[in-house]
Amino acid sequence: MPWPKGKPHTEVMIRKMRESRCGNLRPLEDRFWERVSTGGEDDCWEWLGAKLPSGYGKLNSKSGESYAHRLSWKIAHGSIPAGMSVLHRCDNRSCVNPRHLFVGTQADNLADMRQKGRGFIPDSSRGNNGRAKLTEGQVREISEKYDAGDTSYAILAREFNVHKSTIAYAVRGLHWRDA
Ligand SMILES: [Zn+2]
Repeated sequence: MPWPKGKPHTEVMIRKMRESRCGNLRPLEDRFWERVSTGGEDDCWEWLGAKLPSGYGKLNSKSGESYAHRLSWKIAHGSIPAGMSVLHRCDNRSCVNPRHLFVGTQADNLADMRQKGRGFIPDSSRGNNGRAKLTEGQVREISEKYDAGDTSYAILAREFNVHKSTIAYAVRGLHWRDA
């Protein structure tokens, strides 16, 4: 059998291009809600898609936004004001229920955590001076840098001058606990 006319290899390429373009054209909202286990109004709505190492839901979007909880807030309210964070009332990083999300500054976040009685318990908490090796802001920064990729526990440990295990705890949020 001779090869059919029209160069099948090229046809396959064209079909793949069309499919991927269709994929891109599918509305972000559709791709988003497909990956959410919605419950009652006040329940946590769990993200079923990919997650970042820190536990936050992840979805690629054209805008470059990849945090599922931030996308959820954007879908519900529009763009996030510059320099503001989207925070969880429920402390569940994989929750994307817009009712559980609020926009605030890092200062709001810290006030919220204090109010909820949470804090960063550093490795040195059992040590001599009890002073935190990492601030809450640094913990967030480490977590975001790790999620963004192109780094490692070892690199971050050097950058923040702490032990690799401290970085691991910061990324996984393990040292945040109810006081
Ligand atoms: Zn929630």
